[in-house]
Amino acid sequence: MVNMNDAQREAVHYLDGPSLVLAGAGSGKTRVITGKIAYLIKTCGYSARQIVAVTFTNKAALEMQSRLSLLLDKSQTRGLTVSTFHSLGVRFLREEFAAAGLKQGFSVLDSQDCLGLIQSLIATTDRGRLKAVQQRISLWKNALVTPDQAAHLAESAQALEAVHTYHSYQATLRAYQSVDFDDLILLPCQVLAASETVRQKWQHRIGYLLVDEYQDTNQCQYQLLKYLTGSRAMFTAVGDDDQAIYGWRGATVENLARLQQDFPELRLIKLEQNYRSTQRILSAANQVIACNPKLFDKTLWSEHGTGETITVTRMDGELAEAQSVSMRLSAARVEKQAQWRDFAVLYRSNQQARVMEQALRDLRIPYTVSGGQSFFDKSEVRDVLAYLRLLANDADDPAFIRAATTPRRGIGQATLQAIGQYASQRQLSMRQAASEQAMASVLPARQFEALSGFMTFVSRFEARSVKPPHQEPVDQLLDELIQAIGYENHLYDVSSDDRAAQSKWQTVLDLLEWLKGRAKESDWNLETLVQHVALVTMLDRQTDESPDTVTLSTLHAAKGLEFPHVFLIGVEEGLLPHLGRSSGDEEPNDAAVDSARIEEERRLMYVGITRAQRSLHLTWCARRRRQREERVCEVSRFIQEMGLEQVKPSEDPGENMTPKARIDMLKSMLSKGSRAR
Ligand code: ATP
Ligand code: MG
Repeated sequence: MVNMNDAQREAVHYLDGPSLVLAGAGSGKTRVITGKIAYLIKTCGYSARQIVAVTFTNKAALEMQSRLSLLLDKSQTRGLTVSTFHSLGVRFLREEFAAAGLKQGFSVLDSQDCLGLIQSLIATTDRGRLKAVQQRISLWKNALVTPDQAAHLAESAQALEAVHTYHSYQATLRAYQSVDFDDLILLPCQVLAASETVRQKWQHRIGYLLVDEYQDTNQCQYQLLKYLTGSRAMFTAVGDDDQAIYGWRGATVENLARLQQDFPELRLIKLEQNYRSTQRILSAANQVIACNPKLFDKTLWSEHGTGETITVTRMDGELAEAQSVSMRLSAARVEKQAQWRDFAVLYRSNQQARVMEQALRDLRIPYTVSGGQSFFDKSEVRDVLAYLRLLANDADDPAFIRAATTPRRGIGQATLQAIGQYASQRQLSMRQAASEQAMASVLPARQFEALSGFMTFVSRFEARSVKPPHQEPVDQLLDELIQAIGYENHLYDVSSDDRAAQSKWQTVLDLLEWLKGRAKESDWNLETLVQHVALVTMLDRQTDESPDTVTLSTLHAAKGLEFPHVFLIGVEEGLLPHLGRSSGDEEPNDAAVDSARIEEERRLMYVGITRAQRSLHLTWCARRRRQREERVCEVSRFIQEMGLEQVKPSEDPGENMTPKARIDMLKSMLSKGSRAR
């Protein structure tokens, strides 16, 4: 076995029952998981098919697979499942759709679609309110609360409205033969609870289950874990309560304590050596987290040397901050003879990415943004996917509406309303209703003609794509479909200028390329492909290659990752800790809630600090533009908590320079660096 300390080895070898590895950042928890998978297969005679490892994001799953490929041959990992809870849920439902009351070609709606659905139910344009209702429904689902149970819990008028919406929302999803992301966990749980046969089948199939980042599971995920492992309870969970950062999404650290109660035989293993960071970084992280009340006692030490000084730099504003970080990063790369991929710029809020991206582009520094606005949120991507969804599921109403009206083909609001009315009277989906002969008498001739043209088009492709035995290869179908829609022309018609249209068209080509690759790799037909695509949209986009680029990431999306050099920007009161409340927030504004919020922010800071291996640089802005207003900011309390010396005024030599002067300075830094080499 590759390097493991005694405690890690114990965790890997322990197979007499359930086990929990509870330990701080960088102590090798994820390494225990990969090591244990290799041990189960190589030494204990498990077949890869019996092993399921659950990670938090698709990116983490990929990372785990690549770590495994160093430990095992390809033939040994065939059939191994390494996925997120949600992907596991999709796989489950693809087999058990009937027990869940779904048809095989059910759709997975992403959160934008679901928000649209909620909007159609409560008819408001107040996005804050819509999001608040969506969040509430999601929290209920994650806590296994049904609409009926929610009705009993509701105390305020606002909550009652949400309950009401929850009821209709569920009914509509069912009518669309669709599920949302939360259903991907909830429905398997409900099916497993209801059916002994299904339970036995899955418990028999899964010989060993491993869960990474266990502290961020919600109640529903925990229940799923229990059902899947059954009374044999052959599982290993690893986690760190100090890194619980998804409380706002219904995750509950109580799952750590619950595990000990529900499984009294649970073997608890603690890891204490940190292998990731220098002493300085580790000690700053330890001091910050010491300000939170302790749930579990943990110690963390490192054998690495003291390391570089952690710097804190005060900047005038976010533009100066972004430019300065870009320059320092670029210079450090030369100085340290490092690669771009050794650097990460981390921030609390997505909005901070834009200025940073611009500054990196100015210096021609290659970067990848993770956890930001997704590729799959782009309208051109969603347009194309709507067509695919409609082919895979004739009950997907949001997809029908989008496809029917993009590009414009004479199907407008009046037609859609007539179809909608007809559909609801007869309990049909919109697409089913639209293909009924009776439409001829419901609609004026011109509208009917436009509609039936579209319907013929759809059924022609459906016959070739999803209906066996005529399934044609996905790549050929995709090309022809896009051609037939006339989508490229449409982009030129609706874009402000040709360049915008070109760039959108390029996005579509990228999408097609990616879809074809995925379909080929897993031998998927269109239906399966479409169900998996929806999933990728949720947390991150799966990229197969890892190019040499700087990583730009939110703190949330950086969980579990490590980088030699980290810049943490915007370390100010109000931003980190983040004090913004989402509008429509119904939480009582009391001290307990506030301190819970600060504690979660502190854990986020801890996550940020502990991503760094060798160097850590913090910046904060004395002024920052927020909601079109420039505000004066104070340095974050977390800096003092890290035990760093009182912040000196800016030491950035480039501050207050013109852009040209900055570039000149950078050039001279770079040439100095290359001479040193
Ligand atoms: P996080 O809490 O951030 O998820 P983690 O506890 O999962 O961290 P890992 O990512 O598994 O920690 O390990 C951190 C780093 O330490 C990795 O680079 C890993 O390869 C290395 N490492 C872990 N254990 C050992 C060991 N016994 N010997 C040498 N290196 C180790
Ligand atoms: Mg980890």
